[in-house]
Amino acid sequence: MFVVMASNAGEAEVNGVKSHILAEGLTPFDHRSGDHVVIAVVGEVGDQKARLMSQLAALAGVESVTPISRPFKLSSREFHPQDTVIRVLDAVIGDGSLTIMAGPCSVESREQLFETADAVRAAGATILRGGAFKPRTSPYSFQGLGVEALRYLAEARERTGLPVITEVMEPSQVDIVQEYADILQIGTRNMQNYSLLTAVGRVQRPVMLKRGYGATIEEWLMAAEYIVSSGNPNVILCERGIRTFETYTRNTLDIAAVPLLHHLTHLPVIVDPSHATGKRWLVKPLALAGVAVGADGIMVEVHPHPEEALSDAEQQLTFEGFASMMTALRPIHEHVRHLHGDPVLSTAALGVGGTSKH
Ligand code: PEP
Ligand code: MN
Repeated sequence: MFVVMASNAGEAEVNGVKSHILAEGLTPFDHRSGDHVVIAVVGEVGDQKARLMSQLAALAGVESVTPISRPFKLSSREFHPQDTVIRVLDAVIGDGSLTIMAGPCSVESREQLFETADAVRAAGATILRGGAFKPRTSPYSFQGLGVEALRYLAEARERTGLPVITEVMEPSQVDIVQEYADILQIGTRNMQNYSLLTAVGRVQRPVMLKRGYGATIEEWLMAAEYIVSSGNPNVILCERGIRTFETYTRNTLDIAAVPLLHHLTHLPVIVDPSHATGKRWLVKPLALAGVAVGADGIMVEVHPHPEEALSDAEQQLTFEGFASMMTALRPIHEHVRHLHGDPVLSTAALGVGGTSKH
């Protein structure tokens, strides 16, 4: 449930509501929405819900108390109708602009990263990606350059002005990765690594949470909820394909996830057509599809010589391929940005009802 405070409610009244929630053994999370402070109540409410709702509704300064029907309370549009907009250096994610995260699968050398960073920046990328710690299926495959790659990423940021995103694989890496990177990425294999989710929930940097390749949308949003409820509201969701019976593609891009997520949550949504398909020539058409269904951006892998790449050689774009994808994406984005319905209005379809004092 969440409590909407009256627009003239003061700090004492907000604190009164929060103390009541804490005294029940529950946790209050507040944010400002226009003129109102809105306070979510999270925790195991159980069969005390009706009693608690009427008690809260009777407190000074309270305008209304509304149940949240979804289990992902803080991430739900019911609690937070406005889109979450994330700012990192000059990049803005979730404001209707098109975010383009591009760069190599793995950082292989300073030269490879700089060359790629310059090329993707020139073609319109807004964020530089590059793996430092690589989650590889085989223990014999290239595992990434680790901290050396983090240093190159920070140098590439200085060189291009682009914020950098890289994967963190375990809680013990969070400190060092956040020291160098602007956005922390949680990979598909770690989407339900709850100690890692809690650890990145405690840092100040935005987190991009990739969908587990076998995860439902609800499991994914519950994973996001771990991060948000640990104190980090800046979560980006990334659809990167799920495992199905199909073998021509590496994964199956769940394109419906994009409008579904915009309906269910206020968090921005990125599509990764590189890991979704595993095939270079399929990346551009699926990037176009992702933008057409309303994704806030795209993440793609780009390499100076993809065929020589130390990881994901089959799917990385050449510089020309990336530039050609960008040229095709821009008019689609311009065309669709006004076509998608207001997701705030669409919350009416969720059937939200409130207990109002007025
Ligand atoms: C990546 O983006 O570097 C990556 C390993 O992707 P995923 O976790 O989606 O496989
Ligand atoms: Mn990769």
